[in-house]
Amino acid sequence: MESFAISLVCDACHREVSLREPITTCPYCGGLLEVQYDYAAMKRHMKQVASVPKLRSIWRYRDFLPPVADESIVTLGEGGTPLVRSQHLGKKIGVPHLYFKNDAMMPTGSFKDRGFSLAVSYARDLKVKRGFTYSSGNAGASFSAYSARSGFQALVCVEYVASETKKAMINLYGAKVAVLEFDKFEEISTMLERATKELGLYQFVNFINPIRHEAMKTYAYEIYEELGSVPDAMFHPVGTGGGLWGAYKGYRELETLGVTDRVPRMFAVQPAVTAHFREAFQKGLHEAGAYGDPKKTIAQSIAADSPLQGGKRILKAVYDSNGAALGVSEEEILEAMRDLAREGIAGEPASAASVAAAKQAARQGLIGEKDVVVCVITGSGLKQPAAVEMAAGLPKETIHADFESLKRLIERSV
Ligand SMILES: *Cc1c(COP(=O)(O)O)cnc(C)c1O
Repeated sequence: MESFAISLVCDACHREVSLREPITTCPYCGGLLEVQYDYAAMKRHMKQVASVPKLRSIWRYRDFLPPVADESIVTLGEGGTPLVRSQHLGKKIGVPHLYFKNDAMMPTGSFKDRGFSLAVSYARDLKVKRGFTYSSGNAGASFSAYSARSGFQALVCVEYVASETKKAMINLYGAKVAVLEFDKFEEISTMLERATKELGLYQFVNFINPIRHEAMKTYAYEIYEELGSVPDAMFHPVGTGGGLWGAYKGYRELETLGVTDRVPRMFAVQPAVTAHFREAFQKGLHEAGAYGDPKKTIAQSIAADSPLQGGKRILKAVYDSNGAALGVSEEEILEAMRDLAREGIAGEPASAASVAAAKQAARQGLIGEKDVVVCVITGSGLKQPAAVEMAAGLPKETIHADFESLKRLIERSV
């Protein structure tokens, strides 16, 4: 096995640092680091996008990922999720080539498993024994599961707004966990920045950890392999933006390698009540500031009033791909949960936000009849049962278990 990764490069000062040390942000200036690869060599060696074709997990694309020795890999079969074609909604909104990338079907129920399988494996390979992440809920569960499997010591701070189920799952898998209280997301950013500088504990927060989002490239490759081409538009629920940025990087790589000659338009989706990317996008800005109140949305996994380090990567992906940043209302999210359920998929509110945004984009003429459009379904509705109940309500009828009651029910129902 070969890896074509060369080093980490800083977004801000452009200096290079070694990939063989557990580094988080740039040791010179604190900027975000990005893995860079030798694409010329990759192009010479590449026969197909899949490097281990017999695998159905993210490790199928091992050549596109940072180096990890076989014995360090921690895997639960994450990745290889279905790309489900819409039967109803697409036709209804005039986007007949609408698909759902169903990452709710992951080992711990969210797309976070791609990132944690890679990041925990990579950390073990570098002989790191313990680490920390802050989480809106799903990252904590994923980190806890992969750490449990590999004997890694995980410490998680989970936002108090996360559902009780998400909090309990982190506990169930065995990580050390504390509930995190805060008024503004900025407090969390500052806390994380100081922890990086002063404590030296290896971190797994998206972007502060430069490895996690590399694994998100794999859903771009999976979609490409399944469709035989890249889609025209992708709708991503965005929290930190690790998913959107990773997928965008994946598509750019396919372009660099000559596999495709274009990338999809990237749509960043947030709840309207915390839509800092939409605010920046509408003003043509390349950096986003604080906006809104995360307590006002049910889309817990994408509720933040400001991004890490201005969210420059996310806005760059949106502008460079000719996409957009959109905000969706709470009503639109609940309606999209029902739309998605009619397709046979129960997503959590954050996932349904991508569907709500695709509906909005169709109304605005941003996508249409000819476009191949993919909504990323990032997490399962099972983890946020109260939101499922809000979207659908509980059954209205109750009957006693006797034949007459059943007969009356059947007669009323048909
Ligand atoms: C974490 C998460 C997101 C947001 O992902 P980012 O990579 O932080 O942008 C969206 N949906 C669900 C269900 C999540 O768990």
